[in-house]
Amino acid sequence: MSFSIAENLNKIKSLIPGDVSLVAVSKTKPIEDLKKAYEAGQRIFGENKVQELREKQPQLPNDIEWHMIGHMQTNKVKYIAPFVSLIHGVESFKLLKEINKQAIKNKRVIKVLLQFHIATESTKFGLQLKEAKEILDSDEFKRLQNIKVSGVMGMASFVENESQVRLEFATLKSIFEELKSSYFASADSFKTVSMGMSGDYSIAIEEGSTMIRVGSSIFGTRN
Ligand SMILES: *Cc1c(COP(=O)(O)O)cnc(C)c1O
Repeated sequence: MSFSIAENLNKIKSLIPGDVSLVAVSKTKPIEDLKKAYEAGQRIFGENKVQELREKQPQLPNDIEWHMIGHMQTNKVKYIAPFVSLIHGVESFKLLKEINKQAIKNKRVIKVLLQFHIATESTKFGLQLKEAKEILDSDEFKRLQNIKVSGVMGMASFVENESQVRLEFATLKSIFEELKSSYFASADSFKTVSMGMSGDYSIAIEEGSTMIRVGSSIFGTRN
């Protein structure tokens, strides 16, 4: 039996606390599916490819918050800088500087999350805590006026072992707390812990997630 996109969304919303944001991950899905989610009240959508994000954005109403959740090449920032509301996967200083540069061109401030490598799998992207501190300590970072570092993002290992997943999420939460107290104690905007996907969002929330990114549990499995 298959459920509709609206039913899937309502089910997930009924299961998560009201203060946890839900990013509907619509990558690979046709625009009709996004419209169904929109009609069911969803306003935050996440895509992992710049090209797809650029194609979909103009086809939907402009009260949507578009999130870039995937790995990004520096030379593509310019295509999404005019409209993107949050870039989750920032894992290099070079990318951060380019986002700032394109934000200036568009007279915007763009919110970003620092992505951390919390999984044991080496295929996953992300910073180590030490690298992040080097960036945040630098004078060059302090001069970037058109980005707002709003929190952290991470992906747990894709494994059955629940205690491992839980530990990885707890690690990200503790990184968040450390950065918050060392660098952003007075910045109310540093508040997001983006972790949890279809298979593990309930564990992520138990470990302190404030934003989950859910695709297949809303839109069905991808090819
Ligand atoms: C695809 C993707 C998701 C959603 O994955 P599901 O398992 O379909 O919920 C979340 N985060 C990132 C970074 C993704 O690329």
